[in-house]
Amino acid sequence: MSGKKLVAGNWKMNGTGADLPEVEAIARAAAAHSSVESALCLPATLLDRAVRAAPGLAIGGQDVHGAPSGAHTGCISAAMLVDCGARLTLAGHSERREAQHESDADVRAKAEAAIAAGLVVIVCVGESASARDAGHAVATVTAQLDASLPRSDGAAGLLAVAYEPIWAIGTGKVPSVGDIGAMHAALRQRLVAAYGEAGETVRILYGGSVKPSNAVEIFAVAEVDGALVGGASLTAADFVPIIAAAVSGAG
Ligand code: PEP
Repeated sequence: MSGKKLVAGNWKMNGTGADLPEVEAIARAAAAHSSVESALCLPATLLDRAVRAAPGLAIGGQDVHGAPSGAHTGCISAAMLVDCGARLTLAGHSERREAQHESDADVRAKAEAAIAAGLVVIVCVGESASARDAGHAVATVTAQLDASLPRSDGAAGLLAVAYEPIWAIGTGKVPSVGDIGAMHAALRQRLVAAYGEAGETVRILYGGSVKPSNAVEIFAVAEVDGALVGGASLTAADFVPIIAAAVSGAG
């Protein structure tokens, strides 16, 4: 990896206008920790207001449709995200892969649509507990990555990958640092296979129960270029120490 670590929050289906002061507090802390890139992926209903309230902070969506427009009730296009000032989006979060049955091909189309609109896209991958227990974690996740990666020209420049074991999301469980390092090294190999030298520059984030108490240890792992944070991104009190931990591990 070259460049700054990226620490992105995912508020999921949480947050209303009453929570904008948290966004503002996170933005102030992010500005004070500028050796790290910080971002918040918010519910669509908050994007425009968050961009206005915290213009210095990168605000992103949590999903994007693969098509530019059309008969897709309830969905949001890349151009719509750009229109309300978003700079990034998630694609293929495991909660969407499971609940909305999103396939790797869907995720690739979403990532390509985001990149075509100039958005940074964080493509999420991760194994189930049963795949981990069966010893298939690396094979499962690398296959998922290969099939989900955007293939558009220059894709690597706007891409980040989040390794999020499904069994670690929202559970308080975290893989060993050895398992995180082994997975990130395998993902790096696949990124280089897909993009050549540019694959070295794609940031690989770890996600799954990152907290202030474990962030320093996780950021110290080789090839961990940042974090995707769910529950602990909802308040400045929890999220800011994670950003600060990435500063210590910056470079
Ligand atoms: C997530 O949903 O992307 C996530 C990592 O959640 P949590 O940090 O709450 O485990």
